[in-house]
Amino acid sequence: MTPPPGSPALAVLGSTNMDLVAYVPTAPRRGETVTGSAFRTVPGGKGANQAVAAARAGGAVSMIGAVGADDLGARLRVALTEAGVHTDGLRTAPGASGIAHIVVDDEGGNSIIVVPGANGTVTGLADGDEDRIAAAGALLLQLEIPLAGVLAGARAARRHGVRVILTPAPAQPLPPELLSLTDLLVPNEHEAAALTGRDDPHEAAAELLTLVPEVVVTLGAAGSLYAVRGAPPVVVPARQVRASDTTAAGDTFVGALAVASGEGCAMPEAMAWASAASALSVQREGASASMPYRAEIDALAR
Ligand code: ADP
Repeated sequence: MTPPPGSPALAVLGSTNMDLVAYVPTAPRRGETVTGSAFRTVPGGKGANQAVAAARAGGAVSMIGAVGADDLGARLRVALTEAGVHTDGLRTAPGASGIAHIVVDDEGGNSIIVVPGANGTVTGLADGDEDRIAAAGALLLQLEIPLAGVLAGARAARRHGVRVILTPAPAQPLPPELLSLTDLLVPNEHEAAALTGRDDPHEAAAELLTLVPEVVVTLGAAGSLYAVRGAPPVVVPARQVRASDTTAAGDTFVGALAVASGEGCAMPEAMAWASAASALSVQREGASASMPYRAEIDALAR
């Protein structure tokens, strides 16, 4: 499952979680016990999801982060390896792996508890990480590890002239230094609004362009919006599909976008290819399990 030689090298610095998903008629209130209909464990975390998406899309991907010294950690590492992701940069930290405890009710509503566990130990780079980043064409970052770790990665990328692609999720105020180190910011429309206070994605993108040179705002079923300094914005439509599970649509999009742009595609073309990847993923259940392989993306994008 090793990506073919010559495929774009990408490093991902971020979170690895096990999603523990319980399906119930109605979520329990305090003091209440309810019987659920099903339970699944699904590898997740925004970092690992982007790594799997990029590897399946054809990238040579190195994952940097940490899992815990527990059975979940061992399973998360195997899941990444099976997806073709290099895990030399994935440390095993003492204690528990990161988890997301997710309760899904009959109306499709959910409530989620995230316990960062080992992800919280990623406060900087470890041995070999600087080389992993230097060897990549781009570094993919999100905000599910401590900001100190995100910043350390972004600084290393800048030192080596490596492009930094930041997904600002979960939404939170971004330190000016991180913005100054970001080449491409990829928020969804809610994150773009949270960062700028502007609900209109065009206005939000215009404001974000004062902070970073390139922005892609993802708009769910409405597609994605590309903004770059000195040119009019471009909207790339999404594929018209019946979505059954949009979990990790954004991570699938970013992983595929990084691969296509690493292969030299112009951004709107890369976004169209990434839209095909995420359209495939939203038609299937399960976050990382739903991510498409390169041949499937090529067949749809053709
Ligand atoms: P996030 O998962 O981060 O909230 P979005 O919901 O904006 O991100 O989705 C990312 C991309 O996935 C979109 O730009 C679009 O290409 C694709 N996508 C998401 N939802 C749908 C959908 N219902 N139908 C088709 N494509 C979708």
